[in-house]
Amino acid sequence: MSCIFCQIANKEIPSNVVYETDSLTAFRDLNPQAPVHILIVPKTHITSINDINSDNSSIVAEIFEAINKIAEQEGIKETGYRVISNCGEDGCQSVKHLHFHLMGGKKLSETLS
Ligand code: AMP
Ligand code: ZN
Repeated sequence: MSCIFCQIANKEIPSNVVYETDSLTAFRDLNPQAPVHILIVPKTHITSINDINSDNSSIVAEIFEAINKIAEQEGIKETGYRVISNCGEDGCQSVKHLHFHLMGGKKLSETLS
């Protein structure tokens, strides 16, 4: 399997990990768009939001619990942040492994499009 985020989660390629549990990994984005830009991914391969179902949706709750902790760890919990998950072609999803962008550390754009 050549999925880059599976390889990062399996420690087959290096990344700057900031938080990890048995089921998820959080690491710094290679091309940060904000002073804090972290990607949170499930360790098991899920392609996108389109593939979340009743069998695997508990990971989404775990990811948001992790985001809460990471925001505190990164010192942006009180100043605020944005969480984005791009899905499919129009969402400009470039890596086909479910991931959530956590961005903060500056005032972000008021528009999302
Ligand atoms: P998306 O466009 O939502 O699929 O986001 C993919 C993100 O993954 C982009 O922000 C990339 O900068 C980031 N990215 C790609 N490869 C790596 C990598 N090896 N380590 C860290 N971040 C990466
Ligand atoms: Zn994967």
